Formats: sequence, C-alpha cells, structure tokens
Amino acid sequence: SAKSAGKDQFLFFDPVMQSDLISMHQTENELRIALENNQLEPFYQAQVDAQGGLIGAEVLIRWNHPERGLLAPAAFIGVAESSGLIVPMGYQVFAMACTQLVAWSGCEFARKLTLAVNISARQFEEADFTARIASILSSSGANPELLKLEITESTLARDIESVSLKMLELRKLGITFSLDDFGTGYSSLTYLKRLPIKQLKIDRCFVRDVLVDHDDKAIIVTIIALAATLGIDVIAEGVEEQEQQALLVSVGCESFQGFLFGKPESQEVFEQRFTAP
Ligand code: C2E
Ligand code: MG
Ligand code: MG
Ligand code: MG
Repeated sequence: SAKSAGKDQFLFFDPVMQSDLISMHQTENELRIALENNQLEPFYQAQVDAQGGLIGAEVLIRWNHPERGLLAPAAFIGVAESSGLIVPMGYQVFAMACTQLVAWSGCEFARKLTLAVNISARQFEEADFTARIASILSSSGANPELLKLEITESTLARDIESVSLKMLELRKLGITFSLDDFGTGYSSLTYLKRLPIKQLKIDRCFVRDVLVDHDDKAIIVTIIALAATLGIDVIAEGVEEQEQQALLVSVGCESFQGFLFGKPESQEVFEQRFTAP
C-alpha cells in the first residue's frame, strides 16, 4: 500500500541508514584502491603441536588503511563479500602466501611449515578457481603440499557435486583442505567421508568455555572421535589458556592455534619470534 511504501521510503532515507550506505560504498571504493596499491598485508598466526612446536600458520589478512591505520577483517570482509572484491582479494592473499613460503623455504624454522589460507565460498565457486590456484602455484614455485585451504561448511552447502570435483582436482595438485569453524554450520557427515578433507578446525566457540561447560567438552570429544574414525586431523582454534590446552590434549587433540601461542603477527614479528635463539 501507499502507506507502507511511504514507510519504506522513510526508512530508506533514515539518516543513519543512508550514512551506512555511503560508508559501505566508500569502503568498497577504498578497498578497490587497496587491492591495486598493495595495502593488504598478510599476518601470520602460529599453529603448534602438543609440545608447543611450530607446525604451521594461518594467514589472516590486514588492511594498512592510509588514514584509518591497520584494520582487521571485521571492518571490511563484509563489504568485500557483498561487492565481490573478496575474489581478487582472495587470489592476492593466496599469491602472497605462496611468495612467503618460497622466501621461507631456506629457513630452518619454516622448513615444514604449512600455511593455511582462508577461501570464501564466493571465491571457491568461481568457475576458474582451480586454474587460478594452479597458475599462482606454478608461477610462485611454492610447494602445494605446504598449502592448506580453509573452507567453511557454507562452501560445502553449495552444489556439492561441483564442490567435490573441484576439491579432488586441487587435491591432485597437492593442496590440502581444512574445514574451518567446524561445528557451527550444517555439515553432512557423508561429505566428511566423501571429500578430501585433511583437517577439522574446531571452532573457537566450543573451546572458550570448555573448562566449565560440559556440553562444549562433549561436543569437542565427539568431533575428535569422529575425525579419528574418518582418519582426519583435528586442530583447535581460539586456545587462550594453558588449562584449555591441557584438557584438549587429554581428549586427543593434536594441534592448536590461539592467543596462548601468539596473536596474528606481521611477517617480521612472526619471523623474529621463531628465529630468535
Ligand atoms: P577465521 O578464519 O576463523 O580466523 C580466526 C580468527 O580468530 C582470526 O580473527 C584470529 O585473529 C582470531 N583468533 C585466533 N586465536 C584467537 C584466540 O585465542 N582468541 C580470540 N578471541 N580470537 C582468536 P581475524 O584475523 O580478525 O579474522 C576474522 C575472520 O576473517 C577469519 O576467521 C576469516 O573468516 C576472515 N578472514 C581473515 N583473513 C581472510 C582472508 O585472507 N580471506 C578470507 N576469505 N577471509 C579471511
Ligand atoms: Mg580460518
Ligand atoms: Mg575459524
Ligand atoms: Mg571464525
């Protein structure tokens, strides 16, 4: 009706919403420039084994914004997704990860370090995803066995036949897969068996209260048992306390990531921390 249309219109011109639209539009334009001007910088967060030994790192993007300083993904991933810029951004991050792997290949601390790169569902479903990844791999000379793609259950929820085909093609190249934020989406257990998944990444939300919440502990124990049955590795994310890690070790978790072992760090800081005597 005219009345509700009027109401919608009023809502549309709400000054708060309008300024949200302007700032979204502005963020999108600035992000486009950021991609061209190398303002995106990969940070690295350590992944360790039960003894605390470095086994890998997750690549987490930061934006060196010329006016606003260093921005975390929460400030721009949403706009990147809705504008589609997440696709070129994703390739840029993957290429930077490959370049870093090659640069670290001579360093003792990083010899067998795997780098985990986040891939959005939007990027994964691009028709030429496999070809683009293959081309970046070959032009960089990075060892695909050291690259892990972090996908989420939302990626699997798309056309499963084509997702499955793509994952198998990438696996043939040597790439491995980790299922990020595991337990928060709707995974069919059938997919876990069918798809070439190397690792389940237990979401931070189960780890946070694991010491006091019996349900969270039960969920973690169940995920670890399921993974063991299927021959899949497990890593826990968001480990902040020694006691959390001790409990996770006691129920069979073998890899860990979280502030207890280091925050996401610039390449320089990460390198320094692990090469220092
Ligand atoms: P994610 O992939 O689940 O990454 C883990 C997030 O948890 C990171 O936030 C990390 O800093 C944070 N974290 C790690 N350990 C702890 C901990 O012990 N405690 C707490 N409270 N937080 C912890 P960050 O870097 O802000 O990234 C947020 C999300 O943005 C990521 O979640 C991922 O979904 C997305 N993202 C980051 N970089 C990229 C990228 O290059 N490409 C894509 N597509 N997404 C990315
Ligand atoms: Mg991740
Ligand atoms: Mg995660
Ligand atoms: Mg998460």
